[in-house]
Parts: sequence; structure tokens; C-alpha cells
Amino acid sequence: MAFNFEKEKLIAELKQRKPKRILVQLAEGIKQNVSEIIKEIENLGLGTEIIVSGETCWGGCSVAVQEARALGADLIVHFGHAKFMEIDFPVIYIEIKDELDLEPLLKKSLNAVENFKTLGLSYSIQHKQDINEIKKFYEGHGKTVFLSKKLGHVAHEGHIVGCQYLGLRAIQEQVECFIIIGNQFHSMGACLAVKKPVILIDVYNNKISNMEPIRTKILKQRAFSIERFKQAKNVGIITETKLGQKFGSSKYLAEKLKQAGKEPIIITMSEITPEKIMNFYNIDGFVELACPRIATDDFAKYEKPILTFREALVALGEISWEEVLEQGLL
Ligand code: SF4
Repeated sequence: MAFNFEKEKLIAELKQRKPKRILVQLAEGIKQNVSEIIKEIENLGLGTEIIVSGETCWGGCSVAVQEARALGADLIVHFGHAKFMEIDFPVIYIEIKDELDLEPLLKKSLNAVENFKTLGLSYSIQHKQDINEIKKFYEGHGKTVFLSKKLGHVAHEGHIVGCQYLGLRAIQEQVECFIIIGNQFHSMGACLAVKKPVILIDVYNNKISNMEPIRTKILKQRAFSIERFKQAKNVGIITETKLGQKFGSSKYLAEKLKQAGKEPIIITMSEITPEKIMNFYNIDGFVELACPRIATDDFAKYEKPILTFREALVALGEISWEEVLEQGLL
């Protein structure tokens, strides 16, 4: 698959802004394309100094403003994610495009949607250019299709991000099932956030998957972690320094944990990893206020229970598990 990104936008923005030093951030899946990207910028002949961030970059939430300031960069060019939030620093988001022939896979998906008349449709950013054709395809097979709304952190109608599903929830009463174009990451988040069936059109593995068994498995794991966390005396509340990863108030949570007789310690990390957590031997359980997918997706990587903010409130009896399920886990 050829690497394709918003080249015209990049060139126009750089010619207009004429930055002296830029910090380039690349999504994990496109770090292999670093040389191509650098050459593209150098070929403009603007004399711009280019520094590439080697830090991990999992989402549009990870914009390296502190790094850019420390380096004296006057612009960040963030490749591979759509705009996630407003930032008090010059940033250009450059989206990438996966150009694939999706028709065979869409045809294959018709069996999975045969009992549904109304479909909710969402896509991960690499497939934005195909969404009108995909919508037309299903409409041509007698379906009524609604794109998820542009709400919260998403950049476009129908666009999906892994941590917030307001746009899907906004249409869930109108649809009988959701179709997600992309990979397992977004569809897994979606099935934890909405009550209707979620079907993944997995364009990378050429597969159609119903996400229900995964939903059941993860909800069991979450309930298990919440029960284990209730026994914890020393609790680490982990905040990440990434700008867009603020999912809950550490101060509020620390207060609630103290009221419940626990001993909270607020810990900051640039990125949560099992190795970093492992060294806090005396902490019995953690609440992470960074990307909620660390708790939900990486269950097997961590020995101690790790909860999201809302799961911690469930463990403390502030809200019920049923309430969380009703509103969606993510
Ligand atoms: S917080 Fe997590 S899911 Fe949301 S954009 Fe960032 S990495 Fe993706």
C-alpha cells in the first residue's frame, strides 16, 4: 500500500507559515515513512530546520508542545491523526489516506447486516476519502445510513476516535447496528460505548467481525478489576503529561479515596508502561486518568488492577456499574 498523506495541505501551510524550526511527530504506524516526509519538506527549499520526535504518538491527544518549546521549535507538524483539540501552540495536523479497494469487503459485509435496515457508520481517519462511496453502497442495498455525529474530539462527521464515542451515542436510537470501517481498536471502543451491535469491517485483515464476544469478555475483565481494586489500601492515581489525556480529576478522586479509608498517591508519567508501574511495589491498585484504553485494552499486561476514573467511582460506590453500562464504558 502506497503511503499517501495530505501533501498539498502540508506544502501550502509551510509556504505560508515559513517556520524556522519544526518538530515533526509521526503516528506509530508511519514512523517507517520518516525519510519520505523529511525529503518532502526539505524539497520545498524553505531552509526549515527539522527535528523528529522519537516519543510515542498513539493519538491526536499526544501533541508534543512541551518538547517543541524545549527545542525552540516554532511549529509542530503532527502526521497521521486528525485534529483532536484546540492547542495554545502552532500545530498542523496532516491526515493520511489508505487507498484500498473496499468493494469486495463491503459486499462480504452484507450477510452481517441483512437483518438491519438502519445503520450507523463511522470510520477511522485513513478512510475519510471513501466514506461517501461506502454510504452509497449500503443505501444501494436498501439500507438507511446515518454517519456518527461530529461531537467531542472527532474532527469530521463519521470520524471515530478511541476514547470518546459521543457521536455514535447521539445516533444510537436511530440505528439498529453500527458499522465501523477500520481496525479492531476503534470497533472495540465502540462496542463498549454503545448498546447496539457493532460490526467491524476490518480492512487490514479482510474480515467482518461482530464485536459482541469481545464486549462480553472485556466487561468481565473490568468487573474483575473493580472487585480487586476494592481491596487496595495504597492507591496510585496516574496522570499523564500528554496534553489531551485528561480523563478525570485527580484532586476529586484523591478526596474520595481518602474518605473511603484508602491512601492515594498522585503519580505523573509521560507514558504509562508495565515497567514503570512495576517499581511501585507497595501500591496495591491504580487509577489512570490518561488514555482510558490503557485500562481496558492492556488488562493482561498489568499485574495490579488498573481502573479508569469512572470505574474507580464504581469501586467507591459513587456510581453503579449498571449506570456505567447504561451510559457506555467509554
Ligand atoms: S486518549 Fe487514547 S484513544 Fe484517545 S486519541 Fe489519545 S491515544 Fe487515542
